[in-house]
Amino acid sequence: MSTIRIVEVGPRDGLQNERRVLGHQTRAELVRRLAAAGLREIEVGSMVRPDLVPQLADTDRVLADVADLSLDRSIVLVPNRRGLERALEAGAPAVAVFAAASDTFNRRNIGRSTEDALAEFAAVAAAALAAGVPVRGYASTIFGCPFEGAVTSAQVVPLVEAMLEMGCYEVSLGDTIGVGTPEQTHLLVEDVARAVGLERIAVHMHDTQGRGLINTLTALDLGVPAADTSVGGLGGCPFAGEGATGNLATESLVAALAQRGQAVDVDLAALTDTADWILRELAHDPT
Ligand code: MG
Repeated sequence: MSTIRIVEVGPRDGLQNERRVLGHQTRAELVRRLAAAGLREIEVGSMVRPDLVPQLADTDRVLADVADLSLDRSIVLVPNRRGLERALEAGAPAVAVFAAASDTFNRRNIGRSTEDALAEFAAVAAAALAAGVPVRGYASTIFGCPFEGAVTSAQVVPLVEAMLEMGCYEVSLGDTIGVGTPEQTHLLVEDVARAVGLERIAVHMHDTQGRGLINTLTALDLGVPAADTSVGGLGGCPFAGEGATGNLATESLVAALAQRGQAVDVDLAALTDTADWILRELAHDPT
């Protein structure tokens, strides 16, 4: 069995909605600790406007601080062409773009229709690839949207196809508000696989209703090769409700895979220590 790839999203997705704003040194320290625990693909920050998301200000300095780490991928989220310019200036090794399967979510979250968002991201992807920088895609609200309600495969599959066509090396399927079930996961993965195969698909499951782990394992068992997780389970979605549990915790997935004999090359003790440390930095109760 090939090794499952874990994409650690804590330093970006995990921190972006936290009340306590961490400085770039602490965020770089988080990336450093995650790398030391064995994580090879880490989303280190975002090039969004610091007045909108102060939690991720100075991502260029985080990148500079962790440039000596030999990660397989350090990924920086970019919301538009201007963000890509800043990411390229900062030497981002990889970038990520994001759009929701729900048109209303795109209009509310990024102020653009899905069509307009895809046009912008196609330009971003083309410019990134021309600069030799690989692009990851996030397709969010795969099972449900806080504004539209249920989302179907018929909305998700064309978005995944569009992101792969624009050159994304992988598209991560995100259950942004954490409403999916294992049965829905099974059906969606089958529908996506029928359209584009599984090699370039990842899952990004949220734990809002306690199903992040089972949904992720369901997808992995169907042959999805990669999963996004966040150390300490950091990262709710502001649209999923105040204080909603967010991303599946990296340590939960690593522990579950180890129990199933699918060991990943991550030091669970070091990872758990890192979760405890960052939760203290954020003044959360430890898990
Ligand atoms: Mg997330």
